[in-house]
Amino acid sequence: MNKLTSFFKTFLLYELVKGLMLTGRHLFERKITVQFPEEKTPLSPRFRGLHAQRRYPNGEERCIACKLCEAVCPAMAITIESEQRDDGTRRTTRYDIDLTKCIFCGFCEESCPVDSIVETHIFEYHGEKRGDLLYTKPMLLAVGDKYEAEIAKAREADAKYR
Ligand code: SF4
Ligand code: SF4
Repeated sequence: MNKLTSFFKTFLLYELVKGLMLTGRHLFERKITVQFPEEKTPLSPRFRGLHAQRRYPNGEERCIACKLCEAVCPAMAITIESEQRDDGTRRTTRYDIDLTKCIFCGFCEESCPVDSIVETHIFEYHGEKRGDLLYTKPMLLAVGDKYEAEIAKAREADAKYR
């Protein structure tokens, strides 16, 4: 009986028809494929992308070189050097993040007492050699300056959960 069933299934192209029926069922349904990069899916305000260093509205950098982010980073991706200014405040002289080490855990931004180091929504960046993904302080500040409005909005949206 099994052989007979198998014969008819083969003869009538049963598997092929079954596959075509499945294709037909989905042919006119709403498509869920996103045409990236023209179309983009929504991102959570908590999305952890490229890092940025922020400034206060008066242009002063927020980072006070407390090194909490450096201490908490499980990938040891952050390197900080600091010095005291003439006015007695402390600021970084070096702030590097090696994005080839970073695991985007978000611990650095969670640990920062002044909301200085943050992770933005930016995920479309790349490096062609290792050094390209070593983000220095000027590079991080430049990202922060460029995207400050969006960063502030995302922080505001997430504030009640923090
Ligand atoms: S996101 Fe995590 S791994 Fe990356 S720099 Fe921050 S603390 Fe380190
Ligand atoms: S980014 Fe924040 S946590 Fe890291 S050294 Fe600066 S103030 Fe401290």
